[in-house]
Parts: sequence; C-alpha cells; structure tokens
Amino acid sequence: MFEKILIANRGEIALRIHRACKEMGIQTVAVHSTADADAMHVRLADESVCIGPPSPAESYLNIPAIISAATIAGADAIHPGVGFLAENADFAEMVAEHGFTFIGPSADHMRMMGDKITAKRTVVDLNIPVVPGSDGDVQDEDEALRIAKEIGYPVLIKASAGGGGRGMKVSRGPDDLGENLRLCRAEAKASFGDDTVYIEKYLAAPRHIEVQVMGDSHGNVVHFGERDCSLQRRHQKVLEEAPSPALNAAVRKQIGETVTTALQTMGYRGAGTIEFLYENGEFYFIEMNTRLQVEHSVSEMISGVDLVREQILVADGAPLAFTQSDIVLAGHAIECRINAEHPETFAPSPGRVTDYHAPGGLGVRIDSALYAGYVVPPYYDSLVSKLIVHGANRNECLLRLRRALDEYVIDGVETTLPLHRRLMLEQDFINGEYDIHWLEAYLGLND
Ligand code: ADP
Repeated sequence: MFEKILIANRGEIALRIHRACKEMGIQTVAVHSTADADAMHVRLADESVCIGPPSPAESYLNIPAIISAATIAGADAIHPGVGFLAENADFAEMVAEHGFTFIGPSADHMRMMGDKITAKRTVVDLNIPVVPGSDGDVQDEDEALRIAKEIGYPVLIKASAGGGGRGMKVSRGPDDLGENLRLCRAEAKASFGDDTVYIEKYLAAPRHIEVQVMGDSHGNVVHFGERDCSLQRRHQKVLEEAPSPALNAAVRKQIGETVTTALQTMGYRGAGTIEFLYENGEFYFIEMNTRLQVEHSVSEMISGVDLVREQILVADGAPLAFTQSDIVLAGHAIECRINAEHPETFAPSPGRVTDYHAPGGLGVRIDSALYAGYVVPPYYDSLVSKLIVHGANRNECLLRLRRALDEYVIDGVETTLPLHRRLMLEQDFINGEYDIHWLEAYLGLND
C-alpha cells in the first residue's frame, strides 16, 4: 500500500482526499499556489509544497512543478482530485513515467472518453443508447443543415473537447444554424484548443441522470446507483440527489447493468460516471467522466462506501472488496453546492469569511475548506462548500436539509445559501418534479 500520496488539487476536494488517506494510515502531501498558503488543505496535510503563483496555469496545472513536488516529498502516488489535471491523459502518463502511481483510470480510457465524439462512438459499440445526432464531427453548414433536418429541430451544436457546461449552442431552426456553427467552433477553439464540433438533438425536457461506477484491474466493475443532477444553471450542476425521484427499482437495475456490462467489456479501472439525459422513459448517453465527481458524496451517503478509499485501493492493484449484490443503497441523500457567489446575480464574491458556523446533527455532512478568517481567493472555482444530507427517505432528507441550511452561517462573502433555502420551499422541488431547464426558468421568473 502507498505510504504517501500527493494531492494535486485544492479546496474541499483536496481535503476530502486527505481525509480518506488519513483513515487509511497514508501520509499526505499538499501542493498549493502562493494564494493558498493559508488554505485548510495545506494546514491539515502532513507536508506541503508551494508550486507557483496564483494563476492555475502556473500552479495547479503546472505539471513539471507537481511532478517535482512529488519527487522532493518522496510520494508514491498522485491523486488528481476533480478538475485541473484530473482528466488530462498526458499528465497521467507523465506521472507513471516518473515512477508514481496515478490514482485514476488508464490514460487510454481517459483519452477515449475525453473526446466526446470518440466517447459516443465507443459506447454505441457497447450497446449504450446515445442522443441522436451526427456520426462524428460536422464540417460545414450544408452538412449541419442536412443532419438537423434528419433529426429535427431544435438541435445542439457541441464541442467535442467541451466541458464545464461550455461549448454548446442551441439552434431552433435552419436560419441561425450556420452562424451558431461558426460561433461554437470559434468558442471551442478559444476554450479548448480544438474546433471539432458535432450535432445532437436538443432534448426538450430531460432529466440529467448519471451512474457512478468503480472498476478494478481484475475485470470487476460495480455501480452505486444513479444521481439526479437536473437542477442546473448554465449547464452546471447546482444540487444533486440520489436516488433520482424519477426512477423506480427496475429501471435503476436495468441501467446499472447496462453500464457495468459496458465498462467490464472496456476493462475500466477506477471511479467513473456515465452521464445520461433521461426523457420519456429512455436513456441517452451524453458523456463519461473518467474521474471522481464533485457530487460523488451523495452516492457515498446512500451506499456507505468511501469512493476515494476505493479509488486508492484499486489504483494499488487490489481487487474490489465487494460485488454488486453487496452494495445496498439505503435512504436518500441531497447535496447543495454552496458557491461564493451572489445568490441572484451569481457574480463571484471572493473575500474574507468573517464568521463561520457549520450545521451538524444526524445525517449532516459538510465537505468544505472554509473557516472563520479564511480569505476566498478570486482565482479559482467559486465552490466553497458542499452540504450533504442523508435521511431514511426523501421527505426526511428534505426536512433535515431545510433545518441544516437554516443553521449554516457563512458571513463576509455572498454565497448561494439563500438560493438553496428558497429551493427547499418550492413545490416542484418538494415533489421531485423538475427537468434540466426548471431552475433557469425559476430564476428567470424570480428576477
Ligand atoms: P459538459 O461536459 O460541459 O458538462 P455535457 O455533455 O455533460 O457537457 O452536458 C452538460 C449539460 O448540458 C447536461 O447536463 C444538459 O443539461 C445539457 N445538455 C447536453 N446535451 C444536451 C442535449 N442533447 N439536449 C439537451 N440538453 C443537453
């Protein structure tokens, strides 16, 4: 087993990984930018190394600096966390070339799924249903018009290298298709350095449902049920729950089996998530994330399995200690993403946290790197805390979450806590009746 793991990330996820390591008796090495010298992940880690100035390109994305830090600290393995280098196959290869274990899937699988066109082609061959659309990249306007006519408007133009909800354009008719194609291509080139785009049917009112999996290097793959991540703003998740209020046990079993069979065929190792849109009883694959996800915690709460611990064990070559039938999903869990942002305008709100009080009690979990006096830096993602609540059923979970949100105090910076408090009182949310467009419509109505 590894004796020392370098955590190549920051914020709550760095802390999350640190906690799993400590429970396994593994030493941790934090890396940090100069802006994060006082961050909680640096304070709690056994050792820390400054890897550069605040800009992510010069610190958390600075591969030579991270590899040097691992060498100096004598780490055995590197956990990339979520975001930054977590889906960078070149990084995974470089980590291995320098004699460290990359805690994640093989670089080949990361490449295969990192490119959305290749990912779609791969899963079609594995009998996973996909959103109808172009078979690969779309070259010009004529081709786009032909495909859109075939699948019917509205259509969505998507960047093959896209991520983080960026690089997507909707066209409701042929008039703006050419213009949107050009815009999407230019945006893709600027954001991802790759202007390859493809077209899919834009689904009217789907839910975003994703299945959490874990595979080992001995051919075993299990799933931990699904998460419903339909509450989104700008294609980014705001709140997630497990199980989905829209699925029953039979559908859950069927989609879980489809996914695990496919990943077993691929020989997938590590944690992964297959994302679907779900509409009128049908699943449509949109992408696979070859890493841990921010919302992994709701699956942990209903399964009782520490997914980071399992990632570390399978990266070390151990077989999974359980089979599918050992995984029992119990109760209901909801996660609120709390961002340092204005709750109505969503403008970032960095600055000093003057007062901090976290809720507690049965079934309440906080994954956060905040503390009173901490200064939220302006350079990074605005997620500062995840409040995750578990209950015996969805109703108990909602009542507990409402109570926990009321207790939570974060002063000095604006946060999205007031938005979550409001959501808890919305009848559609209480009924579990919402699709991926619900939140934006709700926010529009309440402007
Ligand atoms: P990213 O990698 O940027 O997260 P995804 O492909 O996972 O992109 O899509 C993010 C979100 O965009 C989805 O959860 C959904 O809300 C929306 N979306 C993606 N594809 C479609 C589609 N074909 N129809 C409608 N909405 C879509």
